[in-house]
Amino acid sequence: MRLRNIPGSREVIAESEFVIHNEEEKKGHWKEIFGNNNPIHIEIGMGKGTFIMESAKRNPDINYIGIEKYSSVLLRAIEKREQEPELPNLYFIRMDAEYIENVFDKDEVSNIYLNFSDPWPKDRNAKRRLTSDRFLKRYTNIMKKDGRVRFKTDNINLFEYSLETAKECGWEILYETRDLHKSEYNEGNIMTEYEKKFSQLGNKINMMIITQP
Ligand code: SAM
Repeated sequence: MRLRNIPGSREVIAESEFVIHNEEEKKGHWKEIFGNNNPIHIEIGMGKGTFIMESAKRNPDINYIGIEKYSSVLLRAIEKREQEPELPNLYFIRMDAEYIENVFDKDEVSNIYLNFSDPWPKDRNAKRRLTSDRFLKRYTNIMKKDGRVRFKTDNINLFEYSLETAKECGWEILYETRDLHKSEYNEGNIMTEYEKKFSQLGNKINMMIITQP
């Protein structure tokens, strides 16, 4: 999702109380930001934030951080967030997840959600995929030992690649389905914007849950 550059979006982000600024200074201090010891879940590439906002509403005992690379997209999430200001367990960061190890310390994150991540279909761009070996290594460096990565996509090629990569990198596959909406895991499933769009078109939704052994 890449909206056209929206003039003024950077200024709105800079002034938003819902966005964490100077995020690299918060490494190792996220408990202090939230003011509690609750587990921290992050969504990488949250888009307009529908999934993470609903997650934060349903689970007040979990702290959520939504990460988005593009200001124009984050702006939409902030606008939505402003309609629901009473969510002390949710913040946003504008950053490229490539630098995630500069922002979170070892063991600081419990779960990572990857929802409808960009597929980067060309081999030469494989390292940009959020489920590539490079990214999985980054996740290992910030996650708790029993932490989980949950990945949803309608893109079957990206899904098969992600399963294979996770196995090759020594992650354990806890769950996999190629039709989430007909599976036992559909109960309580929070649909993302892309998930709504693609399932309405008749696309099946794939999901995997992986952990580090
Ligand atoms: N997760 C949302 C959903 O399911 O509706 C949005 C999916 S959209 C296809 C992918 C989003 O991930 C885009 O908003 C894009 O800007 C963001 N993104 C892609 N690569 C990223 C990265 N390296 N770091 C942070 N965000 C990224």
